[in-house]
Parts: sequence; structure tokens; C-alpha cells
Amino acid sequence: MSDLVARADRVGRTYDASGRFVQALVDVSASFHAGRVAAVAGPSGSGKSTLLRILAALDVPTEGEATVCGVEVSRLRPRARRRLRRTDVAFLYQKPSDNLVSYLTAEQQLRSAAEMRGRRDADPEDALDLVGLTHARRRRPHELSGGEQQRLAVAQAIVAAPRLLLLDEPTAELDHDNGAAVVGLLEAAARRGAAVVVASHDPVVVEAAGEVVELTDGRVRG
Ligand code: ADP
Ligand code: MG
Repeated sequence: MSDLVARADRVGRTYDASGRFVQALVDVSASFHAGRVAAVAGPSGSGKSTLLRILAALDVPTEGEATVCGVEVSRLRPRARRRLRRTDVAFLYQKPSDNLVSYLTAEQQLRSAAEMRGRRDADPEDALDLVGLTHARRRRPHELSGGEQQRLAVAQAIVAAPRLLLLDEPTAELDHDNGAAVVGLLEAAARRGAAVVVASHDPVVVEAAGEVVELTDGRVRG
């Protein structure tokens, strides 16, 4: 299918924690498509972050294959993986402030994200407006609430127009209203064409997702 952006094909990931082997993922297959929001759900320790890190080309499977934007991540050398992350993939950490540069204003964060990706047509004002932060454009991260920081991080991803947008528990540190706002923004990113994959056990996120990959002890349930 032409709108397939990322795929895990029987992916396994075993960690060797000083001689103690942990099977974080076992035989996981899943497909992620442009224009859709997918949730990777499951309790803590079920393998959500491990799967997201592989889809972000931050890590590679120990079994099976992960294909991101048409390339199999195990085949890429570190430099090519970095290039893939810079051009096509955006990854958001759980902690809102980890997604932002502490000394840049909201507006500067967006300009720098757009520049780094060579998106000369990007419109930072439009992205700030979309996430409801026009009033805060001159503020730095420490002058924003957690919800505002996470909305700014999503705006940064939207401005960079990644093909694949990965978010690791983006609502975990937010109250209900800010969580719901972030979910709305993920839908907006999907409407703009991104494949959105969000690791979460937050019911607000899971219910909004068009599809759910449910992990239990590293395996897909069902
Ligand atoms: P989740 O994000 O769903 O909480 P993770 O993907 O972080 O789950 O972890 C899945 C399993 O892999 C857990 O048992 C965790 O302890 C283990 N794990 C994760 N990262 C490492 C690592 N770097 N070394 C050893 N074990 C790890
Ligand atoms: Mg996790």
C-alpha cells in the first residue's frame, strides 16, 4: 500500500542486562499509515518504548525487520539512521521539557525546527496558532506550563512535517484538558499527512486512536 510509512515484521528485541536476558518485544508485527493515529497500548514494561525507539531508528531489532520510510533500519549505518531521523521522523519524549531547547522562545523553537529540516515553506505563526500559543510566542520553556510545553513540542513536529511522528506517553504528565488538547493536535498532524504513533495507556489517547496495537509482555495481544 502506498501510504504505508512504517512497519514491524515479526520484530523481537532482547536486552542483555549483564547476563540477564529480557525479551522486551517478541514477534511483533504492525503497520503504520500516513494520515492515521495509531496507539501502542499496554501496561508499564510491556515494550511500548522499545517499539517506538525502533520505529524512530534509535534502536534496531534483534529479530525480524523494521521498515521506516521504505528502508530497513538494521541495514542503516548510524549516520544514515541519524539522517532518517532528521529528515523524516519526529520523536517526542514523555517529559514535556525534554522536547524543547531551554534557552529558545516558543517562536524560535519552531523556526529552528523548520530550518533544521530545510522546510522553507513552514509557517511557525500558523503552527503556534494551531496549538493555541500565539500569546506565548516570546516565552521560553520555563515560562510555559507542562501542557503548553507539550503543545509546543507537537507544534514543532507539525512545522517540521515529519512523515512519521512518534510520541512516548505524551499525556502522562498532563491534566485531562491538556491531554485532550494534545490528542486533538495529533489528529491535526495526521490530517496534515503524518503517520502518528503514540505509546500510551491513557484511555483518552487510546479511544481517539484509529487503531490500537495492544502489547502484553512484549507480545501483540489478540
Ligand atoms: P514500556 O515503555 O511499555 O514501559 P519498555 O519498552 O520500556 O516498556 O520496556 C520493556 C521491557 O524491557 C521491560 O521489562 C524493561 O525493564 C526492559 N528494558 C527496557 N530497556 C532496557 C534496557 N536498556 N536494558 C535492559 N532491559 C530493558
Ligand atoms: Mg515506556
